[in-house]
Amino acid sequence: SDQKNETANLANDGLPPLRDVIATHGLSAQKKFGQNFLFDLNLTGRIARAAAPLDDATVIEVGPGPGGLTRALLYHGAKNLTVIERDPRCQPVLEQISNHYPGALHVIDGDALDVDVTSLGPAPRKIVANLPYNVGTQLLLGWLMQIDQFASLTLMFQKEVAERVVAAPKRKAYGRLSVLCQYLCDCQILFDVHRSAFTPPPKVTSAVVQLRPKTDREQAVNLVSLGKITQAAFGQRRKMLRASLKTLNVDVGILLERAQITETVRAEELGVADFVRLTLVHDEMAA
Ligand code: SAM
Repeated sequence: SDQKNETANLANDGLPPLRDVIATHGLSAQKKFGQNFLFDLNLTGRIARAAAPLDDATVIEVGPGPGGLTRALLYHGAKNLTVIERDPRCQPVLEQISNHYPGALHVIDGDALDVDVTSLGPAPRKIVANLPYNVGTQLLLGWLMQIDQFASLTLMFQKEVAERVVAAPKRKAYGRLSVLCQYLCDCQILFDVHRSAFTPPPKVTSAVVQLRPKTDREQAVNLVSLGKITQAAFGQRRKMLRASLKTLNVDVGILLERAQITETVRAEELGVADFVRLTLVHDEMAA
């Protein structure tokens, strides 16, 4: 099949097999860096292809580690790829890959939380990453705040986080992250990845999510306000809105009435459009 051929080709990218790379450089996975490595070329190829086309984009990968996904991205045509890796042990390996693809791979030795990824190249920008689970949500929230800078985010998360991204109202996973992601992006879980695909295996199943910024958002809402309101509403998700929104600096009764939302509903019953209205009215009242 095509996929088999492709996997065979990716295995012959002219670089040593990943397991040898790990052994040669002593890259035992470290928990403090959230390291769970992918060796399965089917998977790394599949993630890279999900983000295609790559050749016309500034591609950014957070946490390349020993470079499995990095190699798939380069193999699948990325010509301007910047990777950001915090673990200094990975630098020699990444340099080796960089030499193998002259001019296509730029390596940043540092913490992705400190990097302004919009400075790494012109639009369209695509982020592709098997994220370190300890900072995954924090990184996503940061990118959401400047989402218009990106063409797509293709991200591996714990499945539980992926489900929060795509959850519909009234579902258990529905919350602040769902509202923020879905207001800004079309969000889709592409596929699940069993824990056994990683070395070492994490405790839970993972999933690859893709977020594509909506280009047709009607009302521009202040994201900080939307963040505050969803935080208040879902922070006490069992409470009725008239109680949970009391922490806001406006009269809750008037706020809900003007936004045409019943006082007794709970956060999980509101759709994204309701939160948008609530935020617009709130900001009007607070102005
Ligand atoms: N991309 C590799 C793969 O798929 O096999 C490794 C993925 S591993 C889940 C996460 C990677 O992110 C690790 O290599 C880890 O060292 C790196 N990392 C952790 N925290 C980071 C941070 N704040 N900034 C940049 N890289 C980080």
